[in-house]
Amino acid sequence: MITVIALLIGVLGLVIGSFLNVVIYRVPKGESIVSPGSHCTECGHYLRPWELIPVLSYLILKGRCSKCGTAISRRYPAVELLTGFLFVLTFLLRTERTVPGLICDIVFVSLLIALTFIDLDTFRLPDVLVSLVALIGAVNTFVTGDPVLWRSLLGALGIGGIFFLVAYLYPGGMGMGDVKFVAALGLYLGSPNIFIAIFVASLFGSVIGGLHIITYQKQLKDPIPFGPFLAGGALLLLFCEDFVTALIHF
Ligand SMILES: [Zn+2]
Repeated sequence: MITVIALLIGVLGLVIGSFLNVVIYRVPKGESIVSPGSHCTECGHYLRPWELIPVLSYLILKGRCSKCGTAISRRYPAVELLTGFLFVLTFLLRTERTVPGLICDIVFVSLLIALTFIDLDTFRLPDVLVSLVALIGAVNTFVTGDPVLWRSLLGALGIGGIFFLVAYLYPGGMGMGDVKFVAALGLYLGSPNIFIAIFVASLFGSVIGGLHIITYQKQLKDPIPFGPFLAGGALLLLFCEDFVTALIHF
């Protein structure tokens, strides 16, 4: 039974992932995510229903537009598979969650995926999506009580305050987008989890940033988007809270 549900949630993830591709592509441009329908960016060919089937259509089409043959980015099926995978992980690892809690988690994970790829593409975290993270954080606290309200508020204000101060003292380093994003994450994860998540994110961020400088001879001022690390840290805490907390105390 669990396997069947996990499979169905995985398929749901593939479908949502397909929608997230649209969000990732269109939200930074300020375009509508509902109309026009999905089309080839090269020749404008509108995708037929079967061409919208996640991953499968990509394989059948051999990664090319059915009309003009332009290559379709491998990232489309990759985002779909990633979303499916993370949905299944959410279901399997968040065992203490009720159904409303799992729905909140799935919305949260979806927003993190969209924000990660948008930040990689554009170095921006669109306000509309960050606001949705805050909204689902508030809904989660009120509906599930996990984390409880005061932990949620302490997390949001605490981490938001710290990041605001850093951004204020070192302008040009961190963007206000990151400040708003961590505050929204804090609302969802609550204290102390948000602080651990950001600690882990900063650790990975400095290591990867350092490697980047060494391997590509990059200048320190070359920006590396911080959003993907923040999202990764949040996911890590979401999925293996007990493990990470034990590791930190060790
Ligand atoms: Zn085409």
